Amino acid sequence: MDMDTTIIGAGPYGLSIAAHLRAKNRQFALFGTPLESWSRYMPKGMILKSEPFASNLWDPARRFTLEQYLRSLKLSYQPLGQPLALERFLQYADWFQCNTIGDLQNIKVKLLGRTHGGFRLQLIDGRRLTSRRVVLATGHMPFGVVPPELSELPSPLVVHSSRMEPVQSYAGLDVTILGAGQSALESAALLYEAGARVRLLVRESRLLWNEHSKPRPLRERIRAPDAGIASGWGAVAISELPRMFRWKFSPAKRHRYVMTSFGASGAWWLRGRVENRIETWLESRVQAASIVDSRLLLRVARPDGIQEIWTDRLIAATGFSININRLDYLATELLESIQTEAEGIPALSANYETSVPGLYIVGVASSPVFGPIMRFMYGAKHVAPVLARNLP
Ligand SMILES: Cc1cc2nc3c(=O)[nH]c(=O)nc-3n(C[C@H](O)[C@H](O)[C@H](O)COP(=O)(O)OP(=O)(O)OC[C@H]3O[C@@H](n4cnc5c(N)ncnc54)[C@H](O)[C@@H]3O)c2cc1C
Repeated sequence: MDMDTTIIGAGPYGLSIAAHLRAKNRQFALFGTPLESWSRYMPKGMILKSEPFASNLWDPARRFTLEQYLRSLKLSYQPLGQPLALERFLQYADWFQCNTIGDLQNIKVKLLGRTHGGFRLQLIDGRRLTSRRVVLATGHMPFGVVPPELSELPSPLVVHSSRMEPVQSYAGLDVTILGAGQSALESAALLYEAGARVRLLVRESRLLWNEHSKPRPLRERIRAPDAGIASGWGAVAISELPRMFRWKFSPAKRHRYVMTSFGASGAWWLRGRVENRIETWLESRVQAASIVDSRLLLRVARPDGIQEIWTDRLIAATGFSININRLDYLATELLESIQTEAEGIPALSANYETSVPGLYIVGVASSPVFGPIMRFMYGAKHVAPVLARNLP
């Protein structure tokens, strides 16, 4: 084998695992574009929803935290209530990578298959290699879902929010955004501020906003501690005990919980940029859509009947649904040998290993097994040490 371990994906999970393996002097290869989904696909001007204390990449000695980075620049750091700009987070990730891993191979894997005693990889530049173990850390991008009534319409007229064009390109256009989560609400604010005419279509009867997070007195923190995903003891369990989540609940219960818990809401600092500024249609669902003269005609079901909307662009901020069949770099024979708990949801051991020995899946693709914390970079805190311990 050319490699002991290969990590596919250089987002927060891949980088954190690599930092742990490097600290143990393990031999590994890491492929992917560093923080690609953040630098290339998230809108410029975005602010992270996670609190600063939950916006770290993870090295074993905790020497390269966001706090260390900001302090090295003589900038203030507050664990809570200090919104973190995307640009600053990307600079931090770059600093983390330089200090913990160094250069990495900014190249994609085209095909991953099995070979005797391990795996064979083909890179997009045609190079091939073999590896005894492989960690899949390729993030959420393949899992975006667009409602079926819109999925046949072409981009850029209809796009999932994770594939939005640069914000400025929407200036002067009428844009309809579906969804009530952070992505929908923040995209609406950014597009409005960039000069688009924005309309939010929301199924719910109201928008939900998180409370202003700020340092709280000890008594309140004991009653409802701050955790990676939210505050409260339930959130602490979900944030800190992902392996317990896997062990304690049946697959059906876990899947349902991951789909329905910690639902759509907006960050506290976004509220003033949306409320009373952005046209918001509550209890509204798109029933059908068609293209007429290069514009979209939407039929929208509302409590008082059907209404038609003409719009130039539709952005579906309608979330993600895990299905490993969408990982187009997996060879069919490998995909078919990964056991699943339900359609497209991999069965994983407590060490994130699939039923194919030596093949690991981490990050959002493991969230139906380990819980909602795996949708956030905070989950890498748990994954990286477990893998570093268990990858021989
Ligand atoms: C709009 C939006 C806002 C978000 N805000 C937050 C937030 O504030 N806080 C938070 O914790 N989480 C947030 N998230 C979730 C966030 O995406 C995850 O926390 C985080 O990116 C997960 O990291 P990851 O390493 O699993 O995947 P990603 O960051 O998506 O990284 C995937 C990596 O895989 C690589 N890759 C993909 N395919 C291949 C291939 N074939 N070969 C090689 N490499 C490949 C990519 O180049 C990239 O390096 C947000 C998500 C969205 C969509």
